[in-house]
Amino acid sequence: MTAKISIATTSLAGCFGCHMSLLDIDERITGLAEVAVFDRSPLTDIKNCHHSDIGLIEGGVCNAENVHVLREFRKNCKTLIAVGACAINGGLPALRNKISLKECLEESYIDGLGVVNPQIPNDPELPLLLDKVYPVHEIVKVDYSLPGCPPSADAIWTFITDLLAGREPTLPGELMHYD
Ligand code: SF4
Repeated sequence: MTAKISIATTSLAGCFGCHMSLLDIDERITGLAEVAVFDRSPLTDIKNCHHSDIGLIEGGVCNAENVHVLREFRKNCKTLIAVGACAINGGLPALRNKISLKECLEESYIDGLGVVNPQIPNDPELPLLLDKVYPVHEIVKVDYSLPGCPPSADAIWTFITDLLAGREPTLPGELMHYD
């Protein structure tokens, strides 16, 4: 019996919309389950990424934990794919890059409209925030980028099935979009 392809997925600074788009492949996921197994992913609730053939990264990099998870994926995944605008260029979370981290925290927790009991969270268990939100390719080498916010289910399906078949992934123009 041929060994199944292993796929790992995670969300860094993202909204899980790209994962929802993956789930939108609907009944095709049963065919995928015949040839592939999921490692770390919200689908399995496995907490660490083990050796995997394909790694799908959603979200940009906004804190020290994101850096740790992303490096773990790069180390363990043969092919790493930045999925969606946040992973590719920081996306919506990167809107905070226009101001300093200090200003951002003060506006959110001290000075902003409707703030009660103003205090910047400082629990030592919270991951350390980075000075800005980084695209994943600025932290690790990325093999492919799949654009969209989110990429459509058909785009994700086409990309994954090309990789599973050992083909260079190619998206037809109608599946390639940046919004
Ligand atoms: Fe959400 Fe869009 Fe970012 Fe995907 S690219 S995580 S859908 S905001």
